[in-house]
Amino acid sequence: MTQVVDVVVIGGGQAGLAAGYHLRRLGLDFVVLDAQAEPGGAWRHAWDSLHLFSPAAYSSLPGRLMPPQSGETYPTAAHVVSYLTDYERRYGLPVVRSVRVEAVHRDGEFLRVEAGAGSWRARSVISATGTWWRPFLPAVPGRTEFKGTQLHTVEYRRPSDFGGQKVVVVGGGNSGAQIAADLASGTDLTWVTLREPRYLADDIDGRALFDHATARRRALDEGRTDTGGVASLGDIVAVPPVREARDAGRLKAQPMFTRLTATGMEWADGTRANADAIIWCTGFRPALSHLGPLGLRGPRGHIPTSGTQARAEPRLHLLGYGDWTGPASATLIGVGRPAREAARQIAEMLR
Ligand code: FAD
Repeated sequence: MTQVVDVVVIGGGQAGLAAGYHLRRLGLDFVVLDAQAEPGGAWRHAWDSLHLFSPAAYSSLPGRLMPPQSGETYPTAAHVVSYLTDYERRYGLPVVRSVRVEAVHRDGEFLRVEAGAGSWRARSVISATGTWWRPFLPAVPGRTEFKGTQLHTVEYRRPSDFGGQKVVVVGGGNSGAQIAADLASGTDLTWVTLREPRYLADDIDGRALFDHATARRRALDEGRTDTGGVASLGDIVAVPPVREARDAGRLKAQPMFTRLTATGMEWADGTRANADAIIWCTGFRPALSHLGPLGLRGPRGHIPTSGTQARAEPRLHLLGYGDWTGPASATLIGVGRPAREAARQIAEMLR
């Protein structure tokens, strides 16, 4: 059966919920379709020790402050899941679960959203499917020859899974640094990065990053010179466990190897090392395959947008994925503003 609504939001993680909050405030008729059986988006799948890089009050969606977590300055992923679960319930957001959207098609004045469970005709669609579901692995020679374990950030859980093993963590971003710190004392760790790790100053956490993104947005809005993205500040937030491992000398990065062998890896100068497991902390790509039938893909797998609105299909908005859909829009505190703007534009279009 096909249902007709004003708006379908695809994805019920933090970005989809923030969109729902604003759509509800504007009185629009909408539904949020989410592939998972339970609330929490990607946070439900994080590794055990993952903490936010900002205090709770700086990690809030529109309308409701995240409550502090007892005993933790930086809340755990489980705390975020509780917060999102409560948020969804508190605002009575119409989330339909275990519904994976397979395709979005043009259908006259509608966009038709197709899932195994049914289809929806919507005047507008907000895609908020995140990136966790599309892990990126670089093409490294010999990757299929390596006989040990290989996993991506999304599959890593805890150090005890690797007790005493020779583990290689690849990647100089936050995931790489945090997972390397996690493994630094219980395993024989090699941390490999493309370039020398760039730590943000120790007193910079997510609050300062958000302030920086806000200042950038203001500058762009007012036509002043671009102050640059947060990448100009560094790559790694020195959260307490990372700082501790670094200061104890347990986080020494090696340059990237050039190939994998059956038993380990080899560097450009011919040096070899053995490994039992390789953990690829090499990032993500936006999960956009459901939008394939619209033919909108631009460079680097992104869809060209003005703000959140797809340039070549104004009935479609993209929310959350990264700075390309709004400064800091892939963070809890940053997604509120683009969500409000997307809802406002949709309401205007429907009028
Ligand atoms: P997701 O949380 O991935 O939610 C998307 C939802 O869409 C999921 O429920 C998924 O099942 C569903 N979905 C996907 N495809 C479909 C489909 N085809 N049909 C239906 N449903 C679908 N941000 C912060 O603010 N503070 C932090 O400290 C912080 N730390 C981070 C640490 C790590 C390691 C990572 C990876 C990210 C971190 N972030 C942090 C960034 C960000 O908050 C998260 O990535 C966040 O989960 C993104 O939310 P989202 O709603 O865009 O996507």
